[in-house]
Amino acid sequence: AKDKQRGTLRICDASLKTAYAARRALSMDLEHAVERGELFLAFQPIVSLVTGRTESFEALLRWRHPSRGVVWPADFIPIAEDTGLILPIGRWVIREACRSVSDWPDDVRIAINLSARQFSDPSLIASIADAASEHGIEPNRLTLEITESTLIGDDGAALATLDALRRTGIRTALDDFGTGYASLSYLTRFPFDTIKIDRSFVQGSCESANHQVVVRAICGLAADLGVETVAEGVETQDHAELASALGCDFGQGFLFDRPLSPIDCAARLARERLG
Ligand code: C2E
Ligand code: CA
Ligand code: CA
Ligand code: CA
Repeated sequence: AKDKQRGTLRICDASLKTAYAARRALSMDLEHAVERGELFLAFQPIVSLVTGRTESFEALLRWRHPSRGVVWPADFIPIAEDTGLILPIGRWVIREACRSVSDWPDDVRIAINLSARQFSDPSLIASIADAASEHGIEPNRLTLEITESTLIGDDGAALATLDALRRTGIRTALDDFGTGYASLSYLTRFPFDTIKIDRSFVQGSCESANHQVVVRAICGLAADLGVETVAEGVETQDHAELASALGCDFGQGFLFDRPLSPIDCAARLARERLG
């Protein structure tokens, strides 16, 4: 039995070592991803549940790795956050998002995901303002999406950053709403323009009356606070109809479109606007 246990331990140890080596290799490659032009953005439409029009696109980061093919954010954002590479990568995302939105009609906006490290970076607002002016776009065409976990810690500092963003005209969204611990209190304490209701609630509404009660309450509270709501993970017509009936303003999900290339975004906008 003892031998068997030692064997298992050795295997675990070996696979841990492999996982660690793989992560190290990936993080070394990630160091050069920006300069080598391996990163790109995909854009997923956020659609009015009333008119069906695209009001904005969420920019979603992808990494075209030279030997592994496309790497998804779940597999490299955590590495970028741990190593601090998220700061230069995040600056690239912001510049690229500003460049992309400048190609679209003026009433179409873009949403950018932000990690906690970026949110607390003192040079954040200046670098966004620079990127916006470089591409000749109004800061109010940018929405920064942050999650509740980003707000944990120093309330005063977070409030100051949100206020400074607002004064610059940059909009903010609370992402994955409902998955954290203090959602409702964050909603009343921090001045967000938008909340994005996590897909677990949107999809759960089709199966459970309790989820419906929660989504309806969130949308009612948001409306009273003057905050827009986006239903995430809208995959079916049922999800869309229910989200709309429960009071969500916008929807995002595979029903409308998967994350798109710039060419497909332009085609979608042309189709929508030219009939
Ligand atoms: P997120 O911000 O919650 O983004 C939405 C994710 O849900 C995206 O995954 C999107 O492809 C996926 N999705 C969209 N519609 C549906 C649907 O109908 N059903 C389902 N099941 N999924 C849907 P993706 O692109 O893999 O991104 C994963 C996460 O990585 C994002 O979650 C965000 O937290 C992070 N991320 C992506 N881009 C960036 C970035 O530029 N910077 C930072 N810091 N994080 C990013
Ligand atoms: Ca997001
Ligand atoms: Ca989300
Ligand atoms: Ca998420």
